[in-house]
Amino acid sequence: MNSRHEYLEEVLKWKEDVLTVLKDEGVNENESIYLRIHDFSTQLSRLVEEDASNEVLSVVQGEVAALHEEVEQYFIERQSHGSTFINETYVQPGKHVLPPLPYEYNALEPYISEEIMKLHHQKHHQSYVDGLNKAEISLAQARKNNDFSLVKHWSRELAFHGSGHYLHTIFWNNMTPKGGGAPGRLLLREIEKYFGSFDLFKKHFSEAAKAVEGVGWAILVWSPRSRHLEILQSERHMILTQWDTIPLLALDVWEHAYYLQYKNNKASYVDNWWNTVNWKDVEERFLKARQLKWKPF
Ligand code: FE
Repeated sequence: MNSRHEYLEEVLKWKEDVLTVLKDEGVNENESIYLRIHDFSTQLSRLVEEDASNEVLSVVQGEVAALHEEVEQYFIERQSHGSTFINETYVQPGKHVLPPLPYEYNALEPYISEEIMKLHHQKHHQSYVDGLNKAEISLAQARKNNDFSLVKHWSRELAFHGSGHYLHTIFWNNMTPKGGGAPGRLLLREIEKYFGSFDLFKKHFSEAAKAVEGVGWAILVWSPRSRHLEILQSERHMILTQWDTIPLLALDVWEHAYYLQYKNNKASYVDNWWNTVNWKDVEERFLKARQLKWKPF
């Protein structure tokens, strides 16, 4: 099986996921968005059977991008009508899927080989998706059974596999066959403002990446609080966080936060702390945070 064929197979799978989302959202099968996907899938199945050429493939890639935008637009419009309650599309516990690569496995050659891309995407990323699903399901089970004896273990798994899934999803899209060069004006200006120059930014980023202890990531981030870019390292990536998430409610359990009053009775501090929570603030953060929407996977 060649990689073009595999790509088409993945697009087919993606199309199925989109249909599931539409169905979950209660979209009527007579709506034009359904017909649009139906046409696309007939076209796709034919291509999977034939041996599609590169040109045909780039048409498919364009179609996938356009279709994705249409689906998004469809939901935005439905929401703006406001007459019907729309369930936000969300990934239910255990329902993460491997996103298709936005290009073929050999598309980044000679910089990254087809063999690496295949292994990295199909094996490594898939195992993060599987691990994240397992952790989410286990924690859902724990809530249901009111049994949190393994909460530490599953929280670790959630962090490790969740960060793995989210960061790889960012990583694949951060690359492209005809990449390189410099960013557009807005980002470039921001980079120059904070790092001094584009070259200094690249130097800093490269040095941070090379100096990551053991395994991990170099990550360019935006800080909504300080309103500037920053370069961070993530050793491994699972130190109990899930990258690509935004904190809404935080409880400080460092000793300095409770020891003078509660001594070693951390549990009692945690239980009492609920009486102080400002839910209005948490909700405001939630409303701001949910404005940021990535394609769900
Ligand atoms: Fe990786």
